[in-house]
Amino acid sequence: MTYIYPVISRRAQGVSIGVNLNPNDKCNWRCTYCQVPNLSFGKGPTIDLGLLERELDEMLAAIFEGDYLERHVPDGSQRVNDIAFSGNGEPTSSSQFEEAIDTVLEVLSRREATRGQKIVLITNGSLLHHDSIRKGLGKLGAANGEVWFKLDSATADGLKRMNGAHIDPDRVAHNLRLCAELCPTWLQTMVLRREGRDPSEEEIGAYTAFLGERLREGVPLRGILLYGLARKSYQPEADTLAPLPATWMRALRDRLEQTGLEVRLSL
Ligand code: SF4
Repeated sequence: MTYIYPVISRRAQGVSIGVNLNPNDKCNWRCTYCQVPNLSFGKGPTIDLGLLERELDEMLAAIFEGDYLERHVPDGSQRVNDIAFSGNGEPTSSSQFEEAIDTVLEVLSRREATRGQKIVLITNGSLLHHDSIRKGLGKLGAANGEVWFKLDSATADGLKRMNGAHIDPDRVAHNLRLCAELCPTWLQTMVLRREGRDPSEEEIGAYTAFLGERLREGVPLRGILLYGLARKSYQPEADTLAPLPATWMRALRDRLEQTGLEVRLSL
């Protein structure tokens, strides 16, 4: 399929149905750990919304009326966890983001079993200040949606290094607030070792200070999804990256929990 792909997660014990609005492998960021092969700079292409609708309907029919789960998914994981806007680039870079959400909601409304199905938007958050994206987010929020908002660094240097992003941390804070006020929002944070060096105390301190400020301002964050480098990057510098030790990750989790937020660690 062009836009729809299933992901079986043993960890989450279920299937996530991915919606890829960037089949052209283009993104407005270039994260150092990105697993999109042939990633290039740009935005999502024109989406054939009719095809997106047919593909999602076909996938849901195979799962809910057919034997897709029995044939492809191991015992214990034969259920749908969510529909996830997550693909080979930044989903909100699609000029049809809002229409794509409308399309997905419409298809989900056709089946009793999929009405109210959880929808997740995985985003780098850099475009959430645009009106049309916010309208889409509002629809997600009203429909049992959830956002995973990428925050790997709270410094301008760190955002450049980790995400290839030329974005001011104040803009990130602004977009995060807009996002969390429209739709339940988790932060999604990756930490890794680069060229043998762990993240600096300055970086971690800036991240925790950023969190503290958002909480003092009353930004309604759900929590933090904290990730270590579990799979190899597809970017040229892949060999310079390595996962941090589990003890390091657990210590960071414990430190972040002191903010009062729930922290879910994935190693
Ligand atoms: S935002 Fe996502 S798709 Fe874009 S470069 Fe980063 S990891 Fe890859």
